[in-house]
Amino acid sequence: MTTYFGAIADDFTGATDLAGLLARSGVRVSLRIGVPQEPPADTAPLEIIALKCRTAPVDEAVAETRAALDWLRRAGAERFFWKYCSTFDSTPQGNIGPVAEALMTALGTKQTIYCPAFPENGRSIFMGNLFVGEQPLAESPMKDHPLTPMRDSNLLRLLAPQVTSPVGLANRHAVAKGAAALRGRLSQLSGDGVTHVVVDAVANDDLYLIAEACHDMPLLTGGSAIAMPLPEIWLKQGLLKRYEADRAHRFEAGPAIILSGSCSAMTNRQVAAFLSEGRPSLKLDPLDLAENGNGAALDWLSRQDLAATPIIYATAAPDAVRAAQEKLGTERAGTLVEATLAACATRARDLGVRRFVVAGGETSGAVTKSLGISRLDIGAEIAPGVPWCFARTAGRDVAITLKSGNFGNEEFFAKALEVLER
Ligand code: ADP
Repeated sequence: MTTYFGAIADDFTGATDLAGLLARSGVRVSLRIGVPQEPPADTAPLEIIALKCRTAPVDEAVAETRAALDWLRRAGAERFFWKYCSTFDSTPQGNIGPVAEALMTALGTKQTIYCPAFPENGRSIFMGNLFVGEQPLAESPMKDHPLTPMRDSNLLRLLAPQVTSPVGLANRHAVAKGAAALRGRLSQLSGDGVTHVVVDAVANDDLYLIAEACHDMPLLTGGSAIAMPLPEIWLKQGLLKRYEADRAHRFEAGPAIILSGSCSAMTNRQVAAFLSEGRPSLKLDPLDLAENGNGAALDWLSRQDLAATPIIYATAAPDAVRAAQEKLGTERAGTLVEATLAACATRARDLGVRRFVVAGGETSGAVTKSLGISRLDIGAEIAPGVPWCFARTAGRDVAITLKSGNFGNEEFFAKALEVLER
């Protein structure tokens, strides 16, 4: 089926998060890692291109997203989405605004909305201010993010320096009056020359109203949640069809492995819970990897009974991570771990593993790259924003799930295995 909706995500796990939410509609979703080299073929009605441009220089981010847009247009897409983080992660040079402007120019559209709200995950916007749980963004842990520290909570103030034309607000009162009122507010802003409209949303219902008011705009921008209601609207209009083939059931479950390079608080708990089941496990130590390489890890893997679902992890508490980073440098410590988990993934595949559970955003990028995976078909959701995906590597069908740091609950790893066995 030709593509109707084309989304461009500024990072990889953000793209899988979006893919999982869109797939709830039962419409086929396909995710491409990077802009495909080849022309569109076997396209899904909902296509997502995952980029890695959140902190890239502005020119680079604009060029990449333009290339992604061109590919999606060739696939037939008529509606477009620019997906960024629900905490509006951007550097002071900020890519969110410039990319949105470049996409608007290419599409010849005069207005778009900015709605990073994700109420289910505690991200809400009120009077243009973004909250993480009960805290304003700039008072949340995001204020100390190593790459994109967020020191202002007001989206209009964050966005204005990133764009060349006026920024305005459709506030909660406008949204709460319903889709027609919101449309009225948007056209009033348009009359005032406002191109970039931040839209308040504090509850899931707001997202449905906003989607209803905005589904026919050529370009929407925001977090994954604002896109979630769109397929349902287009299904009702007959613009999309549900996906009949059930990929999850056609997939023959083979041996599984857990590869974890995330050190988030939640991943630490998830690894501990999985270890308590008495699984074969190997803990990676960056200092040891720096000294002795990854041969021992690969040898260990080759000796395992794969039917027992081994876990290989570098997941560690903040103190241990800091100690390794101080000795090796943050980047080197990260790269050593990522490269080892990536090598373990290909070795596991060659040994017969067919299901891969991967924890960590960067780690996921490294693993899919080493498996040579450039396209994922989205399957059943394991936790909000974390679906199983189906892909081909070295001529074989495999299932893979890519979990970013804090997603899923404590039982995530066991749950992931169970979902696919069902
Ligand atoms: P998350 O999604 O939780 O941010 P990522 O995989 O994106 O996870 O990032 C975690 C980073 O930390 C990766 O670069 C990984 O290689 C690195 N890392 C993992 N374990 C350790 C460790 N024990 N010491 C230092 N760095 C580590």
